[in-house]
Amino acid sequence: MNDEPDNVILKLSHVRRVYSEGERDLVVLESCDFSLKRGELVALVAPSGTGKSTLLHLAGLLEKPDSGEVHVSGLATRGMPDIKRTALRRDEIGFVYQFHHLLPEFTATENLVLPQMIRGISKSEAKKRAGELLEFMRISERGEHRPAELSGGEQQRVAIARAVANAPNILLADEPTGNLDPDTSLHVFHALETLVRSAGLAALLATHNHDLARRADRCVTLDHGRVVALDL
Ligand code: ADP
Ligand code: MG
Repeated sequence: MNDEPDNVILKLSHVRRVYSEGERDLVVLESCDFSLKRGELVALVAPSGTGKSTLLHLAGLLEKPDSGEVHVSGLATRGMPDIKRTALRRDEIGFVYQFHHLLPEFTATENLVLPQMIRGISKSEAKKRAGELLEFMRISERGEHRPAELSGGEQQRVAIARAVANAPNILLADEPTGNLDPDTSLHVFHALETLVRSAGLAALLATHNHDLARRADRCVTLDHGRVVALDL
């Protein structure tokens, strides 16, 4: 069942993803292969509309490929029952969106506590970890504020902290600094990078920012629906 080398934590094999658009089909990914190793930070740099979000959604088990396979932690996911896919996503994957997607009615701390409690962690333990993560992201003083009371950079720091609240092995980030000014982007990226490095996470990060992408272990792009190496 687990036939991957130990260090490959995410693998897309021959993935095809097509969107039906009325008469014709839009082939976004075709014969797409990609592997991410434990502890590796990879930047995905490609123009708008080339399929970055599609790739991340497939990797994050938020969508299914039309053909091909997505392995997460050595497990083939395409034929998995939904309940198992959901559990695997919850246990193994953290996702950061361009817009924070935090729950507006809850404070920053509560946004970190809730996913942990859903996973069965006690409230006191969840609160402790939330506090540690907010401190790590240098926003502990904003913990009792709701998202609307936070700046864009603070919102993204909370969103990153939330993505790792359940200690996933894989972090997927879809243009996490795309909505921020250059200085704030740099700060948020540094925080994300430090977190990824210190937790030994594998991370795939879509970004348009070449300066940030160069800080990754390697860069890839999308070319006619395939992932190819990119020299920045
Ligand atoms: P990127 O994130 O690189 O901008 P996307 O993965 O969002 O690219 O989209 C790739 C292509 O697929 C685009 O042409 C987009 O319009 C199209 N697309 C994305 N999602 C859907 C969908 N749910 N239905 C139809 N077309 C879609
Ligand atoms: Mg996108």
